[in-house]
Amino acid sequence: MIEFDDVTKVYSDGTTAVDGISFKVAPGETLTLVGPSGCGKTTTMKMINTLIRTSEGTISVDGVSVNERDTIDLRRSIGYVIQEIGLFDHMTVGKNIGLVPDLLGWDDDRIDNRVVELLELIELPPETKNQYPNELSGGQRQRVGVARALAANPQVMLMDEPFGALDPLTRENLQDEFLDIQDDLNVTIVFVTHDIDEALKMGDTVAVMRDGSIVQCDTPTAILSDP
Ligand code: ADP
Ligand code: ADP
Repeated sequence: MIEFDDVTKVYSDGTTAVDGISFKVAPGETLTLVGPSGCGKTTTMKMINTLIRTSEGTISVDGVSVNERDTIDLRRSIGYVIQEIGLFDHMTVGKNIGLVPDLLGWDDDRIDNRVVELLELIELPPETKNQYPNELSGGQRQRVGVARALAANPQVMLMDEPFGALDPLTRENLQDEFLDIQDDLNVTIVFVTHDIDEALKMGDTVAVMRDGSIVQCDTPTAILSDP
């Protein structure tokens, strides 16, 4: 589903953030990218939806190079969840979740049904739809962020420290909930974290990054047995 072939990113100031990385993520699988701050995780992730352009190498999604895709079309087909999710505060939860479907021209009934379905999935009561983000707890907001990213049934989800800003207990709850729903979603996920425990828990495959390179890429079981 996602393939990196010898991808490098050199920023305009000369920083080599990503240095010749290659990997594949199979459909429906979760790859976690883990490593210390500054090792190139976010750069890697943002090249997938072309928020950052590659300097060298090729990234393809579903067999097509991201550089050959229409940018808007590509970004709408990829769910994106970040730490401080940036929900729109002046919009209700329902409007936030329905944002991409609305842009895609879904009719109101279809959007409403999808919002209700997603609220159930993320275990929030249906009334939440009419609330505003600032009326919710951090954990609830992050759930809404996940729901918004899933709204238009993306094939790919990019999650950058999605639970990073939460207290440890809420964080663990959200990890568990997300693992529970993940199997039904049939979505291919790249999940960025600096926390090795979270990487091992959430990933089918874990790619360990250091200084722009992938130094190890294997299943959690294999990584645990070869520290
Ligand atoms: P590009 O090479 O992709 O065009 P730029 O060097 O123009 O990237 O930087 C894009 C943005 O990132 C700018 O707003 C810049 O201020 C910011 N930026 C520059 N250096 C860093 C850095 N070391 N870490 C994070 N952000 C940075
Ligand atoms: P991570 O997500 O693992 O913390 P990043 O991908 O954000 O790592 O950054 C990788 C390297 O690239 C770091 O050295 C960072 O300072 C640098 N960097 C990130 N963004 C920019 C930018 N826009 N311009 C220049 N350097 C950048």
